[in-house]
This record gives sequence, structure tokens and C-alpha cells, in this order.
Amino acid sequence: MIIALDGPAASGKGTLGKRLAAHFGLRYLDTGLLYRAVAKALLDAGDPLDDGARAVAAARRLDPARFDERGLKDHAVGEAASIVSAIPEVRNALLAFQRAFAAAPPGAVLDGRDIGTVIAPDAGVKIFVVAEPRVRARRRAAELKAAGQPADDAAILADILRRDDRDRTRAVAPLKAADDAIELDTSKLDIEAAVAAAIGIVERAARRR
Ligand code: C5P
Repeated sequence: MIIALDGPAASGKGTLGKRLAAHFGLRYLDTGLLYRAVAKALLDAGDPLDDGARAVAAARRLDPARFDERGLKDHAVGEAASIVSAIPEVRNALLAFQRAFAAAPPGAVLDGRDIGTVIAPDAGVKIFVVAEPRVRARRRAAELKAAGQPADDAAILADILRRDDRDRTRAVAPLKAADDAIELDTSKLDIEAAVAAAIGIVERAARRR
């Protein structure tokens, strides 16, 4: 079984993805980390984020088995990731890895922006996770504060809205729900309620198949 989880920044996909994978005995891939790692490679080298050739070279060199997730989760890296992810050749360079991950037994949960539309259009279950922007900003700020990083709710809200806009309006693989995705709005749900709702969606989809 392949579960595609898409949605805007800080909508809760990561938490849901890990919990769904554990519940159904599947592997889990946070595809945002791939774009973040490309962006971080350019930032570390002092290269401009719109340098397509260097970005593609960085994408080809990635070794996801050796990712340092903490460094990649930085707020600034997310912002940079949404710039490199708009480069079609970068997306192409990351396609085969994601598809192979999804196809390997026993199946997987992938979270991202284009899983249900581009990476795994035949996924058995597609969930499009949304939450009100203010709720997402509050959650992201709480995460940063818990990690000992400074966080300003208003600045985070502005960043999230800018990033969503860039992800929704790019020409290639924009952020959007697949026609057959089921929307899950987590605005009013705590983590346990959101996980229970997502498990319900997967179970209902499995029964229909
Ligand atoms: O999910 P996360 O916030 O870590 O993703 C960082 C950025 O990577 C997103 O804002 C988006 O631009 C890009 N991304 C993407 N396609 C994916 C996953 C992430 O374009 N499948």
C-alpha cells in the first residue's frame, strides 16, 4: 500500500506520516527533506539558490541515508527549499528515488506537495492535509520554541503564506490536491484526533479496494 500525504507547510503531514507508517507497518519518507538538503548544500557552499546547474548537481549527490534531520529542519532552510524546488530539473533529479522508495515492499507513506499528483498518482490512499494558516503558524512557532530557537508568530505566519503561495503557483508539480484525494482539516484537531481521522480515511479506502 502507498499512502500519499500532501498539503501546505506546517499542516501536520510529518507527524501524521510517521504515525500512519507505524500503525500500518509501512516505511516513511519525508520528501521535503530532499528539497531541504539540496537547498542546504547551496547555502553551505554560498551558491545562489536559483543556480539550476549547481542545484541539480547537489540533488544528484544526495545521500538520504545520511541526512542530518535537525540541520535540515531549520526555518530558513525550508524557505530556501521552496526556491530550489521550483526548478524543474531539480524535481526530475529527485523523482526516481521517491518512486523507488514508494514502490519497494511493503509499501510506504510519503509526505510532500506532489505525491498524489506526480510521484505516486496510483497511490491507494491520498490525503490532502490542511489547517488554517494561523493554526499552522502557532504550531510551527511552538515547535521552534520547544527546540530552543527564537520564534515570532507573525513572522512565521508571513513566511508560511509566502511559501505556500510559491509552492501553489510554480509551473511544475505545484502544491495541489489530487482529484481523488480526501481532504483532512486538522485546524480543530489535536494530534491524536488527527491521527485517528487519518487512520479512518486509510481504512475506509482499503475496504473500498
Ligand atoms: O515539507 P517541507 O516544509 O519540509 O518542504 C520544504 C519545501 O520543499 C516546500 O516548501 C516545497 O517547496 C518543497 N517540497 C516540494 N515537493 C515535495 C516536498 C517539498 O516542492 N514533495
